[in-house]
Amino acid sequence: MSTKEICAVLRQLQKGGVDTVTLLGGEPTLRKDFTDIVSAAEQLGLYVSVNSNLIDFRSLYAVCQNAALKNIVVSLDGIEAQSHDKMRGKGSFAKTMNNLRALTRHKRYLDGDLTVDMTFVLTAANRPETPKLAAFAAEHGFRTINFKTLQYNDRAEKNKDTLAITGRDLLDALVEFYVGCLMREGSRFNMYIPPALGEYLAQATGTPCETITDEACGGTSVYSYVDLLGNNFPCPAMSFEENENINVSRRIDRLNLAINSFEDVHKTSVFKGFDTSIKRGHRKSFLAPCNTCVFLETCSPCTNEIIRGSKSGAVAECLAVQQAGNDRAPGITSRIFRRNPDDQPSPT
Ligand code: SF4
Repeated sequence: MSTKEICAVLRQLQKGGVDTVTLLGGEPTLRKDFTDIVSAAEQLGLYVSVNSNLIDFRSLYAVCQNAALKNIVVSLDGIEAQSHDKMRGKGSFAKTMNNLRALTRHKRYLDGDLTVDMTFVLTAANRPETPKLAAFAAEHGFRTINFKTLQYNDRAEKNKDTLAITGRDLLDALVEFYVGCLMREGSRFNMYIPPALGEYLAQATGTPCETITDEACGGTSVYSYVDLLGNNFPCPAMSFEENENINVSRRIDRLNLAINSFEDVHKTSVFKGFDTSIKRGHRKSFLAPCNTCVFLETCSPCTNEIIRGSKSGAVAECLAVQQAGNDRAPGITSRIFRRNPDDQPSPT
């Protein structure tokens, strides 16, 4: 999209009632018009959050004084040079940490007007670091840790054999991270905890655990996704930048926010169909181990793998509970995963 088209999209979002936009990449700060985009958002009264690798900090630093910028999310693939650089290239970790230090000395950060969060995707490369994450976040000024397991989009799918961790190893990593955060006062974290994992964590750690149920899929009720062409989707998994098996690879006029109102796009069959699908939950029956789980009726797991075109998918955390949960939480497997997969309504 051109600068003009992005500004048109921002106007539609603001008119549609959106109050915060998150600029994602790739690396959004590398756009030559990045500062213009943040200024345009400010003029519309929108708040801005930016996801960045903080490798080249110049344009982001330039907008740090802009009151519209409220939050920066730093992507870290490891909290040590060895693990982070393995994914991002030699020297990346040092650059990111140097720029993070500059960012956390900025007046707006010190005044509490600009927050900095961290996104950490758990892989085999950074697995040993999970117990240290909470301390690292506190030491380096991160407000919240967004802790994620691997989603198998095309890039991760290609490296699945070397990056994925499963079974008992995955459960141990989740427990180590979770306990590390609970033990550290003031620690804030976002972690996907579907009910089966919640029960496992509660039993394995002896600590009550809040779980996500029908709010697990944010979808259209929480956010709206605009792709690099200006198409507006209810889910990022529908966009061409997240797929090779693309659902949409070109500009679709009826979905495009550069030329339509937010309200009109949300009336299209794409949004209506998505909302109906979430309500009916029919995609869930393709996911393992959801199709055997007692929480299936109430839980709303992310079905992005199915949306991307896979015939089946998995919720990695719950699959690990099914495979290895009994080790630390005796009896959990037969208590939670006892449905007969053949009892599922046939998906349409
Ligand atoms: S297995 Fe599926 S339905 Fe059961 S708790 Fe996990 S995500 Fe929810």
